[in-house]
Amino acid sequence: YAERFGGQLVLVTGAASGIGRATAFAFAEAGARVVAVDREGEGAARTAELARLIGAPEAWPETVDVSDEAAMEKLAEKVAGEYGIVDVLVNNAGIGLSGSFLDTTADDWRRVLDVNLWGVIHGCRVFGGQMAERGQGGHIVNTASAAAFQPSKALPAYATSKAAVLMLSECLRAELAGRGIGVSAICPGIVNTNITATARFAGVSEQEENRLRKKSSKLYGMRNYPPEKVAGAILHAVLNDQAVVPVTPEARGARLLSR
Ligand code: NAD
Repeated sequence: YAERFGGQLVLVTGAASGIGRATAFAFAEAGARVVAVDREGEGAARTAELARLIGAPEAWPETVDVSDEAAMEKLAEKVAGEYGIVDVLVNNAGIGLSGSFLDTTADDWRRVLDVNLWGVIHGCRVFGGQMAERGQGGHIVNTASAAAFQPSKALPAYATSKAAVLMLSECLRAELAGRGIGVSAICPGIVNTNITATARFAGVSEQEENRLRKKSSKLYGMRNYPPEKVAGAILHAVLNDQAVVPVTPEARGARLLSR
């Protein structure tokens, strides 16, 4: 995608790690100016630094928790004032939560919905609003998951958060089409990232949680689907204005079954 995004401003959330970092790098390689947003400031700074080395004419880190509405509004003001209006927004920050419905507490639900759903809502509202106001089009990518169309007794809260992101993306796509703003929902299956290292497992002891985390980390590693491939699918979705994009083989299978 050499220079395909030259002159464009791309903002990626969850950019300190995994799919978000790989996506920031892919846009940097394609010539975009990049804003790398994450609640982990050091990781975001590293992503921005490497993005510049890879080819981004400019790249900036921003330390923000996407679930914090006021912080997202402040970020949008700063970005518009200092870097410009975002051409491509990638709402990608997310956290994992496993555990049956009966084991999942209200606080567990709040934590996962705050980041996975509200984080996306805030991003779409503040940056999508600026795109619409500018009137020169743009594109929004939301990272959902194959879990969005695959009922699971192991991940009810996570799957619900991602199904909501998928529906939000499709509704917004319909609303913004007339303004030249595309919206894509990316739905990966199992991708080899750090998500299992930070995922919570509801209803078990800390010791058991650590054991489950290690086990699922191993499984994700064995599947070995690299985040760079998801990043490639994200750039492709923007360039081709794709609506719903299942990425890994099992995600494509799940999508077909769900129709
Ligand atoms: P990851 O843990 O490697 O990266 C997620 C990043 O998001 C981290 O840098 C983390 O600090 C950041 N983050 C988390 N909460 C945040 C918050 N409140 N504010 C700002 N930043 C925050 O995981 P990943 O696999 O790269 O996940 C990226 C996205 O992909 C997530 O939305 C995840 O649900 C989705 N996804 C992942 C997989 C997979 O198998 N890895 C599959 C489907 C979907």
